[in-house]
Amino acid sequence: MIPFERAWPYDVEMKDLFASCPFCKKEHVLLPLKPGDLNDIGNGAKRLLVFPCCHSRVTVLDSDQDYLLLDTPVRQL
Ligand SMILES: [Zn+2]
Repeated sequence: MIPFERAWPYDVEMKDLFASCPFCKKEHVLLPLKPGDLNDIGNGAKRLLVFPCCHSRVTVLDSDQDYLLLDTPVRQL
C-alpha cells in the first residue's frame, strides 16, 4: 500500500503518461515517463521526474496502476 501523502495519481493514454502537477497545479501534464519506465521503477530503479510545466523535480520510487510513489510528500504542498 502506497503512503497517501507521497502518492500521486497518473493516467496512461496510449503510450504516454499524464498527471496534474502538485507544484504549479497545472492539469494534464505530459510526463517524461513511458509505461515501460514504470516497469523499471517497479523493479527497484529510482527515476527522477522533472515536470515540464515548472521544472519541479521529484524522484519516483515505485508505482502501481494508479499512483506514483514519490520521495516527497506532495499532498502537503
Ligand atoms: Zn508544474
